[in-house]
Amino acid sequence: MLSSKLPNTGTSIFSVMSALAREHDAINLSQGFPNFNPPEALQALVGHHIAHGNNQYAPMPGVPALRQAIARKHTAATGLALDPDTQITVTAGATQAIFTAVLALVRPGDEVILFEPAYDSYRPAVELCGGTVVAVPLLAPDFQVDWAAFAGHVGPRTRLVIVNSPHNPTGTVWQHADWQALSDAIAGQDVFVLSDEVYELLVYDRQPYASLLDYPQLLERGMATFSFGKTFHATGWKMGYCIGGTEWMHEFRKIHQFNVFAVNTPMQYALADYLHEPEHYQGLSAFYQAKRDLFAEAMAHTALRPLPCAGTYFQLYDYSAVSDLPDVDFATWLTTQVGVASIPVSAFRSSPTDERLIRLCFAKTDDVLLAAAERLERCKVG
Ligand code: PMP
Repeated sequence: MLSSKLPNTGTSIFSVMSALAREHDAINLSQGFPNFNPPEALQALVGHHIAHGNNQYAPMPGVPALRQAIARKHTAATGLALDPDTQITVTAGATQAIFTAVLALVRPGDEVILFEPAYDSYRPAVELCGGTVVAVPLLAPDFQVDWAAFAGHVGPRTRLVIVNSPHNPTGTVWQHADWQALSDAIAGQDVFVLSDEVYELLVYDRQPYASLLDYPQLLERGMATFSFGKTFHATGWKMGYCIGGTEWMHEFRKIHQFNVFAVNTPMQYALADYLHEPEHYQGLSAFYQAKRDLFAEAMAHTALRPLPCAGTYFQLYDYSAVSDLPDVDFATWLTTQVGVASIPVSAFRSSPTDERLIRLCFAKTDDVLLAAAERLERCKVG
């Protein structure tokens, strides 16, 4: 009899909702992926590198040209000098970076603080290491961290804090004051910071973007994870990277070499070339902001009420004017009866709240967003 190492983990809500969407021919705004393609020039570069023989194992931490291009991109954004040889590793998506980073650090008995709602891969990674999750709740409508309460959670067993900004699912974006408060709360303690920044470029309304990389004292004991899938409309490529302090990165690579060794070679070369053309990623914020706004305008005709969305390609809606159903039941009803699939926000929490929120993904072509909003007009004040 196999005794599960993750007894409380079932099939993820993303798979469940996408399957339900297919079964009921619903418009799928649940899982976070674009329904459009990566830039054609990038696709062509992948083909080029496959045709020109870049098809064998890449160096374990990633091809040097890509790590150098990544360093240039982040140094341009933050002014921080980064060493591609010791601080940057290319990974099979941010998911692998997160998992490997946690594995390299967390031991049985360690406590890991994360903020809920939280992306679903953090907790299992911690629990597989024998660590204990300490979940700090963030509450609607603004999902701000209560830093006084946070300080009460930091203790001698605290090993790691996992941060995610821009935040999935709430669309909040950390300000410098948040980073400063975190830095103050863990100052002088043996605590590391893992910063999931996969939506780094999806920040709206001309806000400045604050990254872990803006805080060299945090980066020394920190790791930030990024995803080419989000940046280049290519979630299925599963390409990402992490930037970290040298000590943690050294340990990270010991594990990386045994869980993937190295990741997709032709794509690494293609991404290295394409990062020299910043137009795509420099235009990403405006591109997605236009989608956010188009969707919001169309959704104004429905009885679903939007929460503020400062970043990511997710928009939360409060459905309490429409229904008293718990969110999983409401999302199921919405998929099967209205024809639009969403994600219930409780899926990102370990303890229940009385919020009535669903997450919709607006990384879709405008016709799909408009069609979804039209269907959602069937949500009447109930
Ligand atoms: N972190 C967050 C917050 C995400 O939303 C996602 C993707 N849904 C990931 C990490 C994983 O990124 P990747 O697809 O590059 O593994």
